[in-house]
Amino acid sequence: MSRTVYVNGAYLPEEEAKVSVFDRGFLFADGVYEVTSVIDGKLIDFEGHARRLARSLGELEMPNPLTEDALLAIHRELVARNDLTEGMIYLQVTRGAADRDFAYPKDPDPTVVLFTQARSLVDSPAARTGMKVISIPDIRWGRRDIKTVQLLYPSMGKMAAKKAGADDAWMVEDGFVTEGTSNNAYIVTRTGKIVTRHLGEEILHGITRAAVLRFAREAQMEVEERPFTIAEAQEAEEAFITSASTFVMPVVELDGTPIGTGKPGPVATRLREIYLEETRKAAT
Ligand code: PMP
Repeated sequence: MSRTVYVNGAYLPEEEAKVSVFDRGFLFADGVYEVTSVIDGKLIDFEGHARRLARSLGELEMPNPLTEDALLAIHRELVARNDLTEGMIYLQVTRGAADRDFAYPKDPDPTVVLFTQARSLVDSPAARTGMKVISIPDIRWGRRDIKTVQLLYPSMGKMAAKKAGADDAWMVEDGFVTEGTSNNAYIVTRTGKIVTRHLGEEILHGITRAAVLRFAREAQMEVEERPFTIAEAQEAEEAFITSASTFVMPVVELDGTPIGTGKPGPVATRLREIYLEETRKAAT
């Protein structure tokens, strides 16, 4: 069945949804994106994603083509038109089509594309078994806080993980874990403290990260935002990741070493439950 896709103001069958070969997203990866999850036909953390989009655009001096209300209306329309009950809405904004030139065009006409991906998110086999992760060097650019579409290195990282018989990769810079290829990384220490890297330009400021840390603190769990090493993670009681499409997902093996019992731990399991319960309540 053909999806309905949003392209620059029009709702089109996916076969007819097209952008220019001169689009700067295509030529320069001059674009940003967001992924918002849908559960029970409702949007999870829409506001957080809309605000981060505005921030990413601002950091790149790209005009924001849509108000938050207009963006919300498009998300809702796509959910309705595609009968989406569970899955994701992908959104991309680029600086638009212009004659190829490194300098930004004077009056950019942004390209806006949104499409849906139906997928089972809540009932996930990986949440029951946990994920295996390898470590790779973080050789991405220095502004990872801007959610750009330059995703080739994360893509290479996932492929390296697959080849190694693992599910994902954690990236390491100056001896410390930055984040996963498409998620934020956490450990739980032997004393039960949740440790995740502090915010900065080195990592994406995960919308799920913000929510999960808030829920953890509300549940009287101790949280420390600081860098950690692969060695510390291998000695940890538990490890997990967060992202909009995986929520909270346990990590049970790192570079071939089992973490804790080698099974999903109670903290990650509990946080996943709390996250799902609370976000479902707040979903719009
Ligand atoms: N870090 C990176 C590099 C990511 O690509 C993502 C997901 N796009 C995240 C973290 C998690 O962010 P969020 O919780 O907003 O999905």
